[in-house]
Amino acid sequence: MFQALINLLLNFVAAGTDEGNLYTPCSLPGCSEAFDKAIRIKIEFNSGSLEVRIKNLSHDTIMVQPSFIDSSGKKKTSIANFSWTPADVHTKPTKLDGSASELLLLSLSRVDGTINTPFPIIEYDFILGDPGASHTPNVLYKIPFAKGKKFKVSQGFNGSFSHKAKTRKHAIDIEMPIGTTICACRAGKVVDVVEKFNDNSGKEAETNYIRILHSDGTYGIYAHLTQNGSDVQIGDDVDEGGIIGRSGNSGKTDGAHLHFAVAKSDGHVLATIPWKFMDSSGAEITWTVGQDLEHN
Ligand SMILES: [Zn+2]
Repeated sequence: MFQALINLLLNFVAAGTDEGNLYTPCSLPGCSEAFDKAIRIKIEFNSGSLEVRIKNLSHDTIMVQPSFIDSSGKKKTSIANFSWTPADVHTKPTKLDGSASELLLLSLSRVDGTINTPFPIIEYDFILGDPGASHTPNVLYKIPFAKGKKFKVSQGFNGSFSHKAKTRKHAIDIEMPIGTTICACRAGKVVDVVEKFNDNSGKEAETNYIRILHSDGTYGIYAHLTQNGSDVQIGDDVDEGGIIGRSGNSGKTDGAHLHFAVAKSDGHVLATIPWKFMDSSGAEITWTVGQDLEHN
């Protein structure tokens, strides 16, 4: 039994984490900085079994899927000498709602007679958002600036300048001066805010944005906001039409504008999906690239 315990400790030292009963930040393989902030993992073990509990401290939905790593570093979907529950934990990601409630992710037990077999290293893969979400049919989105204003649409769906990738394909770019008030197109919970970057850097990685989780598991993304241009914080609930921030020119742009898109997880990335605007009466409106979009 002692040997097994030593092996377990070595395993987890090798995996770069702490053993024990305290939740630790997710410094495990498979974690990125964003997940490191959001995820806490607790590992409890005894001579025969190992349990992994997990908390999601963010307000976002995160999917997690553990894998076993064998001695040659390969991911395994089954490991000899162990049984585990739930049985489908390797084939189906587990959904962690943004609530910080504890979930028993995995329970691993030695099969009788293998007490000296070390526990396998466990690796965790994380993805943002719920791939099972489905966009509410016929939902219409409010125009993201104040009533009475109009601004030119400079790029639309599948636009050749920067709307080809699936993370941007179904997006609109609306030219507007830096500092224009931005309103939520749809109600939801603010799950991500970045506002630290300067306008005019021209760097894609320095885009300020607000991401709002809708009730159906899709997201509204409002990008290129001005520095310190968010009027909301992570965790805030926003109403449709509520003021969320101010437009800008952060990130890679060809001029000050708002980029708005609706997206959902495709199991890997937040892929944009088709959506439609409505006017103040709730009627669907169409818009055309190169022409003004008027909020009336
Ligand atoms: Zn855009």
